[in-house]
Amino acid sequence: MTDRDLGRPSITEIINRVHLSRDITIGAPARPRHRTAPLVPSINLSAANEFADLAALELAHADKFNSVRYARDASELIIQAETYLSAMHASTPVCVFQSGMAAIDAALTTALGPVEAIATVGLIYRKSAYLIRLKAQERRIPCLQVGSMDELAQRAAAMPARTLIFVETPSNPFLELQDVHRLRQLFPEALIVVDITLQGLVNDKADLHAVADVVVASCTKYAGGHNDILAGYAAARDEDLFHGLWEFRSMRGCILDSLSAYLLIRSLRIYDIRIERQVANARAILEFLDGHDAVAAIYYPGMHENSRQHPLLLRSQHHGGSVLTFRTSPAVETRRNIDRLLSTKMAPSFGSIDSLIEIPAIVSHWGKPAEELALMGIDEHVVRLSVGIEPLEFIAADLDSLLSQVSAHGDR
Ligand SMILES: *Cc1c(COP(=O)(O)O)cnc(C)c1O
Repeated sequence: MTDRDLGRPSITEIINRVHLSRDITIGAPARPRHRTAPLVPSINLSAANEFADLAALELAHADKFNSVRYARDASELIIQAETYLSAMHASTPVCVFQSGMAAIDAALTTALGPVEAIATVGLIYRKSAYLIRLKAQERRIPCLQVGSMDELAQRAAAMPARTLIFVETPSNPFLELQDVHRLRQLFPEALIVVDITLQGLVNDKADLHAVADVVVASCTKYAGGHNDILAGYAAARDEDLFHGLWEFRSMRGCILDSLSAYLLIRSLRIYDIRIERQVANARAILEFLDGHDAVAAIYYPGMHENSRQHPLLLRSQHHGGSVLTFRTSPAVETRRNIDRLLSTKMAPSFGSIDSLIEIPAIVSHWGKPAEELALMGIDEHVVRLSVGIEPLEFIAADLDSLLSQVSAHGDR
């Protein structure tokens, strides 16, 4: 599979264009007398930078957002990572944070300044939902959590014009898309924050950075891709919003550390090949599940149970990603079978080179009452799989074990 098959831009190309336009190398700037430069960035852990002279200090003050003075504000590696991420969003300014949640906290705090209510649509990341309820309580403003955009549209007349609307696209675990352009038409004055973590990188065909006020994503998932960093980013084209994000980060000290920034850049350099393999594997696994008699339903962006969203998928994303969810037949004892997997790991993350499986009722919603889970459409037969880069046979063999039915095989 090539990039052309996925139809999305190539990150390798984006990175190389950044370097061509800025006349720098992938690593540190070349020293002319050596005529060589490192191929990979140098890891510099300096917490503070020295000014060569007073003129340099003045320059730094005049260009606060691009200077490197104190590590709570910026570092070379952070600026390098931000330059790449910004190039992936048509040059929208980007702030990198120490986690996706830190980026969401910054986006909510900054955007909440002028708003009188908060609304969320569909299922959103559990911690984001907590944080949003908390912020609404603190500010004593109404918090509306509705199931669908149609429901929100019906309530539009009763909502303050200046409402903050938070959506996730695709959503977790059922991979439903939100039409952010429609949301903007319905609520022209709203502040819209969109979490695109489940899209992966450069998969946004709808230019959400131009429609939403803030685009946020966790880099812990697809962007990092190796389960070895926590990171997140927020992109905002409005200057005041961007400055608000930057000042929040500087004040709270929730900037990404330099070692993780290095790892993030390392991960970006091999993103193209990772995502090609992950998506190709996911497509093969979708076919495998579709033909399996112990699978009752499949959820994937714009396909299977979500196929009524196919036109929206074609408008919104280049591909559906490597995360899929399925419902097993009632005869499958997922709790028992999950211990039989060989290469697929039971873990609460996604988008990485490792195939990870989670049963939301047991992992991310552990301890929740069954009635509450039922409202979300979740029970022990709902399984979320993040497809990695392993040989396909490994993943399929594990799925066969997971899907073995008591009636078909006896109590093995
Ligand atoms: C993981 C995740 C987050 C939080 O990101 P962290 O990097 O774990 O803080 C937010 N939103 C979505 C959709 C996520 O999947």
